[in-house]
Amino acid sequence: MDKLKVLIVDDSLVQRNHVIGLCHELAITQISTAENGQLALDQLRKNHFDLVFIDLEMPVMDGVELVRIIADEKLIESIIILSSKDPSLILSIGTMAESDGLSVVGTFQKPIKAADLSTSLKRLVSNFTNKKEDNPTTPLTINDLKTAIKNREITLHYQPKLTVKGLLLKGVEALARWQHPTRGFISPVEFIDAAERLDMISPLTEYLFDIALKQKAQWSAHGINFHLSFNLSPLSLTDKGLAENITQQVKHYKIAPKDIVLEITENAISGEISTAIETLAKLRLKGFNLAIDDYGTGFANAQQLSRVPATELKLDRILVDNVATNPQQKAILKSTVNLSKDLQLITVAEGVEYLEDFKYIYQLDVDLVQGYYFAKPMTAENLTLWLKKDLAKIRKELHLALNH
Ligand code: C2E
Ligand code: CA
Ligand code: CA
Repeated sequence: MDKLKVLIVDDSLVQRNHVIGLCHELAITQISTAENGQLALDQLRKNHFDLVFIDLEMPVMDGVELVRIIADEKLIESIIILSSKDPSLILSIGTMAESDGLSVVGTFQKPIKAADLSTSLKRLVSNFTNKKEDNPTTPLTINDLKTAIKNREITLHYQPKLTVKGLLLKGVEALARWQHPTRGFISPVEFIDAAERLDMISPLTEYLFDIALKQKAQWSAHGINFHLSFNLSPLSLTDKGLAENITQQVKHYKIAPKDIVLEITENAISGEISTAIETLAKLRLKGFNLAIDDYGTGFANAQQLSRVPATELKLDRILVDNVATNPQQKAILKSTVNLSKDLQLITVAEGVEYLEDFKYIYQLDVDLVQGYYFAKPMTAENLTLWLKKDLAKIRKELHLALNH
């Protein structure tokens, strides 16, 4: 932590000193302060910082305006929002900042507590390490993608989906991984986005679905039966031939469509959606399960949700992560779970990283969990080992934790 450079923006000297004290406890020593938004901007434009703490209520320029300018000018990536106001206001400014492209590592009511800050900093450090793995060089081209498919450089990892009650392995989600021979690890977000832009999403999806099905057939041959979740790009839903192609692929491997869950993001179903609904309806008629992914990040309303023939709702990490420490988030998560139940969808909580969050989820009527707390995405080989060794250990740990 000693390398982190932070800026604390707050008009109250007492509050600034409080945050400075907490930073010292966490071995952060490179600390600057500013009394208002304007002075903060002066510093941010001149110097590099890793993190800025922003108080919402300040004279001269309030925190909301400061967040907007920071996002517009891309002055910093990570922020923490503080306020003495209503938690729902703080959370909504946080959502605004995220949609403006900032990484909000914490939203807190003042005074911020040491444990909360420590959790946020862990998230900041993990953002850093994840980013380091990425190797942003020149933009990907059609040829890069074609070569990757031809040479089978892109592979799949699998992340377990477990029942909340009993921690039984219910399914796995296939997640694409690309280890490029010279560029190193390329994030799926980056290459899926490139494939969408370069009109390569159909061949890439077909290639990945084939790998997933082959793996599923192998598991079935060994008597291991759980469902397989596979991500579809929203763009694929505009492809009128998709439903038929996918059906042919599962037939080829003699896999029943009911053992496959196709995930589509919430954004695909908000806005102009008639072609998307048509494709989804066809897939559902053919027997596939459908999950609405990343729920909570987009703007689909309950009515749009009810028009999609989905079978599963995946609550995004933004609703789940850190829920135990945030009363407002608890309320939102709880009501979203209720909505999901009312629509008779299987509810999945994504991005569970902490035991405390799992304990809260356990109290709600959530069906399935997925997250680093249980397992990271892994190769098919490692999944077998995880099933043999780690799962029993996790069950035991949780049993103890829940009964204390
Ligand atoms: P997603 O579908 O929401 O997948 C879940 C992402 O959350 C995965 O990131 C997974 O590694 C990560 N994750 C799971 N549990 C945790 C947790 O506890 N904490 C944190 N911090 N993260 C967790 P990944 O693999 O980097 O994938 C990112 C996105 O890329 C996916 O988000 C999905 O939208 C897209 N993607 C990945 N593979 C494919 C694919 O084969 N096809 C398509 N169309 N999109 C894909
Ligand atoms: Ca997904
Ligand atoms: Ca998701």
